[in-house]
Amino acid sequence: MRRAVCPGSFDPVTNGHIDIVNRASQLFDEVVVAVGVNKSKNRLFSPDERIDMLREACRDFENVRVDGFTGLLTDFCAQHAIRAIVKGLRAVSDFDYELQMAQMNASLADVETVFVPTSPEYSFLASSLVKEVATYGGDVSGLLPGFVHERLVARLAERESQSST
Ligand code: ADP
Repeated sequence: MRRAVCPGSFDPVTNGHIDIVNRASQLFDEVVVAVGVNKSKNRLFSPDERIDMLREACRDFENVRVDGFTGLLTDFCAQHAIRAIVKGLRAVSDFDYELQMAQMNASLADVETVFVPTSPEYSFLASSLVKEVATYGGDVSGLLPGFVHERLVARLAERESQSST
């Protein structure tokens, strides 16, 4: 069984993530989308919320499952008998960091990183930028699944009302 992991923070999942997961699912027998739940970063959505949204977004992919992970990705790979890490590459700016990470992971465990070039229509798409644009009222509805967009707008409105009280 050829198994791969698509890791990320997915805060929240975008159409760019789904494109990579979809393409990985055609290359491997099984794909695990692994949501990093390390506490260090400031997230808009909780780990459970991010996992729930991904499960809903990936429900039509029969060989894809969604899981959370803490700690090292290479430990998660060893625990789940995963040999391949699939990462989407958007621009040259992704490359330096991703190359370093791939080499570090290869030094830690018996894993190979597979880079999948982003589809051109998603090359500018990142969760962080989507959140920033949506915070200022920009229309990001075409960049996320509809139900994710609704949750994003609702969460930003909650944050806004909390900060103004
Ligand atoms: P981001 O906040 O940049 O979306 P994530 O940690 O959630 O970051 O991303 C997880 C993985 O998805 C990474 O491998 C990243 O390169 C990839 N990815 C994110 N957005 C895209 C995109 N638009 N096209 C291709 N791959 C993407």
